[in-house]
Amino acid sequence: MTLFYGYVYFALFLAFFIGNVQSKIGFFTLYIVHLLTTIIAVSLSFFTQNELFFAQFPFIIISIIGVILLPFNTYNRNKREKLEGQLEDANKRISQLMVIEERQRIARDLHDTLGQKLSLIGLKSDLARKLIEKNPDSAKAELSDINQTARTALKEVREMVSDMRGAKLEEEMIHIQQILKAAEMEFQFDGNAQLKSTPLLVENVVSMCLKETVTNVVKHSQAKLCKVSIKESPDELRIIVQDDGVGFSGTSLGNGLRGIRERLEFVNGSLEISQANGTIVVIKVPNAIKQKAKEGLI
Ligand code: ADP
Ligand code: CA
Repeated sequence: MTLFYGYVYFALFLAFFIGNVQSKIGFFTLYIVHLLTTIIAVSLSFFTQNELFFAQFPFIIISIIGVILLPFNTYNRNKREKLEGQLEDANKRISQLMVIEERQRIARDLHDTLGQKLSLIGLKSDLARKLIEKNPDSAKAELSDINQTARTALKEVREMVSDMRGAKLEEEMIHIQQILKAAEMEFQFDGNAQLKSTPLLVENVVSMCLKETVTNVVKHSQAKLCKVSIKESPDELRIIVQDDGVGFSGTSLGNGLRGIRERLEFVNGSLEISQANGTIVVIKVPNAIKQKAKEGLI
């Protein structure tokens, strides 16, 4: 078309389609063949269709630049979209695996602690049944052993359940560091993640909130630095997450922030978002629950 009619712009369409070729070898072969033929056709046409080509010179240059750049642009964009999809899949898979791992841990713990204790109780009660006529004293001893074992088992179950009941702030800090490191953001920490006077329930709630807030920094802020500060005073727990990114643009709250607000309301806490060289998120939870408990109100 270029040689006979001077339709150089057809090369642009071809360039666009070549960019959509998925296979690497196919892409580069077609790219090179297309580039060479375009350049050859354009050069030859300068001799055969001299007038037309000189009149259209800028357009021809743009077409050639398009032929050089367009396929790469499309090719890379397709590749990036594919990678993003894969990343999302991988993240989903990781969270599924985490759930499975947690289940397995619980099953293992149950087996190791409860299973053992229950079979011990079974054996001992069998023994006590046999001894009760012949030797009542040792039967009594066995029975008190059984009682003791049952108590220990109960205690262990309680410990396991309280372990399971969600994230501790200290562990969440480790996750946060990993997330920020993966996002190549600098992390600064100030304060102490080992809470002393905060109830476990509140700690779980703020851990979730902290996680969502930092995920938001990674997702939305484009920041280089993320500062987290945790201050615990006798009457309140205050967590500040600050970034140096584009600033808070969300006029309407998404699901994440709404969830944080609802959870915080549940423990009488509050969420404040402000701007100063980025976004500042302040999470405050009063320690009133504990105080009321001390006064015997709860
Ligand atoms: P989602 O993360 O699903 O978009 P969120 O409720 O978590 O929903 O966030 C609501 C919006 O607030 C985001 O879409 C984003 O525009 C804005 N936002 C939240 N955190 C930040 C931040 N650290 N920097 C800039 N914008 C933010
Ligand atoms: Ca979010």
